[in-house]
Amino acid sequence: MRPEIPPLKMSAIGPVKNHRGREEGVLVYPVYSRRSGGLSVGINLFPDRKVCSFDCPYCEVFPFQNAGTFSLERMEAELVRALGEAGKQGLAVRDICFSGNGEPSLSPFFPEALAAVSRIRSEAAAEAALVLITNGAGLLRAEIFSLLHEAATAPEPLDIWLKLDAGTPQWYEKINRPALAFTELISKIRDFVRRAPVTIQTMLCAIDGIAPPPEEEAAWEKLALELVRAGMKGPGIRAFQLYGKVRPSPTDPRCQALPPEYLEKRAASLRAALAAEWPAAPVGSRISRGPPTVSVF
Ligand code: SF4
Repeated sequence: MRPEIPPLKMSAIGPVKNHRGREEGVLVYPVYSRRSGGLSVGINLFPDRKVCSFDCPYCEVFPFQNAGTFSLERMEAELVRALGEAGKQGLAVRDICFSGNGEPSLSPFFPEALAAVSRIRSEAAAEAALVLITNGAGLLRAEIFSLLHEAATAPEPLDIWLKLDAGTPQWYEKINRPALAFTELISKIRDFVRRAPVTIQTMLCAIDGIAPPPEEEAAWEKLALELVRAGMKGPGIRAFQLYGKVRPSPTDPRCQALPPEYLEKRAASLRAALAAEWPAAPVGSRISRGPPTVSVF
């Protein structure tokens, strides 16, 4: 028997103060996204518990445990319903986004969920982007690397928003508290950006009262430029999104927001470095195989 689908509160959509509804077992959750600048319909593959290869101190997923498990049928029904509700209310869906309570590519349901969501997007929300927010863990598995490559270069592509919070192993240990080796992950990211377009996302915050030190700032920017160069041999890096902490985390106050000026300073430094290497290209606007945009939010 099909499980009861809770009503979606589409009328209450606004900037989210937290994502606590995800911890109540929902598979589909509409939110106003500052990243996409509009209505984003989230897909959660982990309704029962958090599953991730990182343990970022800024992570917004609070400890929880639910009895239910993921159901492809329920996800499809909830997504069709959410898109239908958005249509009835005249709300444009900017994107459908795999995010939720952990790293989506670690779910055994990810390949079939991606296929199902792609199909529903084509049928019911062709204007919406399809997005995966990932820490890159899936790139270390050959079958997921191939799947993401295929999806990101398809005619109706998957937009991959890839986390790159650190340029040094030391900051990586602090900000991501990972179960993956830094060099191995960066090597796979480098390999992937040569073949498929990605958007790089970087969280800028202080940990235990300490902002990223100068050597970390320099190493991150060097790595960012190296990835742009690697990407230019293929479809290229679309954009760098630098963002700060704005919502509660279970480890508060371990991780603290930095002033907006700090984020602007880091973005300005990257823009200048891109302009120095590619002076003929208009930095700030996407051109074919040119430097990516750098945005702050
Ligand atoms: S990668 Fe994402 S889900 Fe995983 S711990 Fe970090 S913020 Fe949380």
